[in-house]
Amino acid sequence: MLDSAQRILKDVFGYDAFRGHQAAIIERVARGGDALVLMPTGGGKSLCYQVPALLRDGLAVVVSPLIALMDDQVATLNELGVEAVALNSTLNLDEQREIAERIRRNEIKALYLAPERLVQPRMLAFLQRLEIALFAIDEAHCVSQWGHDFRPEYLQLGQLAEYFPEVPRIALTATADMRTREEIAQRLHLQDAERFLSSFDRPNIFYRIVPKEQPRKQLLGFLAERKGDAGIVYCLSRKKVDDLAAFLSEQGFPALPYHAGLPSELRAYHQKRFLNEEGLIMVATIAFGMGIDKPNVRFVAHLDLPKSLEAYYQETGRAGRDGLPADAWMAYGLQDVIFLKQMLNNSEGDERHKRVEQHKLDAMLALCEETRCRRQALLAYFDEDLPKPCGHCDICVDGVQTWDATEPARQALSTIYRSGQRYGVGHLVDLLLGRDNDKVRSLGHQHLSVFGMGKALSESEWRTLFRQLVARGLADVDLDGFGGLRLSDSCRPLLRGEVTLELRRELPSKTPKASGGASAASQLVRHDEREKWEALRTLRRKLAEEHGVPPYVIFPDATLLEMLRSQPSTMPEMSRVSGVGARKLERYGEAFLEVLNGTAQEAPRAVADLRHELVTLARAGMTPAQIASQLHCTEKNVYSMLAEAIGKQQLSLEQALDLPEDLLGEIQDAFLDGEGELPQVAQIAEHFDGRVPDGVLYCVRAALQAEFEV
Ligand code: ADP
Ligand code: ZN
Repeated sequence: MLDSAQRILKDVFGYDAFRGHQAAIIERVARGGDALVLMPTGGGKSLCYQVPALLRDGLAVVVSPLIALMDDQVATLNELGVEAVALNSTLNLDEQREIAERIRRNEIKALYLAPERLVQPRMLAFLQRLEIALFAIDEAHCVSQWGHDFRPEYLQLGQLAEYFPEVPRIALTATADMRTREEIAQRLHLQDAERFLSSFDRPNIFYRIVPKEQPRKQLLGFLAERKGDAGIVYCLSRKKVDDLAAFLSEQGFPALPYHAGLPSELRAYHQKRFLNEEGLIMVATIAFGMGIDKPNVRFVAHLDLPKSLEAYYQETGRAGRDGLPADAWMAYGLQDVIFLKQMLNNSEGDERHKRVEQHKLDAMLALCEETRCRRQALLAYFDEDLPKPCGHCDICVDGVQTWDATEPARQALSTIYRSGQRYGVGHLVDLLLGRDNDKVRSLGHQHLSVFGMGKALSESEWRTLFRQLVARGLADVDLDGFGGLRLSDSCRPLLRGEVTLELRRELPSKTPKASGGASAASQLVRHDEREKWEALRTLRRKLAEEHGVPPYVIFPDATLLEMLRSQPSTMPEMSRVSGVGARKLERYGEAFLEVLNGTAQEAPRAVADLRHELVTLARAGMTPAQIASQLHCTEKNVYSMLAEAIGKQQLSLEQALDLPEDLLGEIQDAFLDGEGELPQVAQIAEHFDGRVPDGVLYCVRAALQAEFEV
């Protein structure tokens, strides 16, 4: 059994060895047993059912909650030469009938379905007449009411046990939360399933949490070392998302906004671009998440604090699915704490629920103020014990200093108390430093005993201290919306001098060597390898476009990287590269060898004239964002050059932009609405209310103008 599994691994997938529990899981399922697989993102869950599917006779049925996920998996399998299809609502009746026919003729190995479709009586009856190799239930945590991805349709999947008692079932999830795991087994009727629990550590992710000072500037510092990398930046509010995406693009980091307030077609369009293009940054609220299987997300940055460690783990976990180095970076400050506490207080729900949420937030805050290894702390929260500090987080790399903050903390708490437990940090710091300003005077606070008592510390040290007091629950935020501080019960022992307080010392922020050296995708490829790396990526992009799939479906970055390093020069050598299976070798081997050996036709790169190069790049199918990063200019600039080229008819609109048809129609209508002269962009821009970048409008206008002038 394991021999044949091994052979499939090499021939079909092009990999040399199984990872972690993969071999054991595959053996269990291939022999007909049930399995419950708990494995972190990027751990390699797909192979756990794809290999048994190929080992067993009959059709493998895979349940997946999202169309985007299914399409990705189907495309990946097809590229490997495995017949797979997805049945979903985007197909019309004829297409569905055709698929059913092919399944009956045994032409299909894997069928991907949404749960609600699978449990329809007609579908169950159809499947019962067939030989079924296995059922795989992906994202199995969707069955849990505790999680944030609960999908009621998943509850019905328990029926499979009764309908198909002979067919092995494998449920998979990357959720790290204990309670959810138990619920999965129970609700999916997987009591007899063997459990495979992997470590939830994500060793390739470098964790860093910094105090928030000037968040945009700090973010730019972080991004500067990651030019050309794809990543996600999470913010809490829609407005902040929109503003930040525009700001980053202006600064030369192509970025797209994503949040629930955008029209769904634009959201889908941005998501598609993020998947298909390289080096785009998605600025998003948490609405952007599940269904993001892009393996080469090189960083996840948080500009606002997530509300729990579960959320933090899940969101940061979207980085580095491909196993290559990735970064999780977060800037956090007192305002975050205040904001989240207020949200929590205003939320619906009973007291018990609020207490649970409060507890979760406290755990998140504790990670921010952590003095141990971040990874140890994070995993400990999920009941996993990492015996040694990881050596791959900010605390392990930079070290951390603590100091005895007992006395200053008592001063800070007295200041809160003496001034009446209603003022925010700004005023409290003024009092401690003895600043004699208007507000202080009008309140008569210059007469308080604490006034001027804290001159030993600087303003920023006091601010940090207040944040830490709140994070530790020693002071509370007044929830009236003004951010005033008051004492909490737990500060009494400290005030009475019964306990001491150790706090982490904030080091003055050096210009961020953002990730502390040993990480970062930008260091994935050495300087002298850049050119060849880009050539490999260009070829991959071209093939991806020809095949209508995202680039990583052709080859993941790890495979390209191995090609770059091992320099295969013959087909047999190429076949030894990890990720090059038989089918891909046959399809793409030659083309990549040509690039590696320098025999491929070079694209005209070093053209002095920017405009000329722009036209070339656009014709080659690059998007404005890609062109911007290639030419090192802003996207805005690219759009205006594109519009100019369209006007001169050097480019067609389709070559310049890949707009969804209905959106294009809408824009054209807006321009053509009135009589006479074409309106200026500014005149119709407000109709689109920021939904469409102005640059796009310029291009469409240029195309219309060119059309009418002929
Ligand atoms: P998950 O679904 O657990 O997040 P995937 O199944 O998408 O992870 O696998 C993550 C990446 O690791 C994919 O690019 C996959 O091809 C690769 N991978 C999985 N198993 C192996 C293996 N045994 N050897 C090499 N690469 C693997
Ligand atoms: Zn560490």
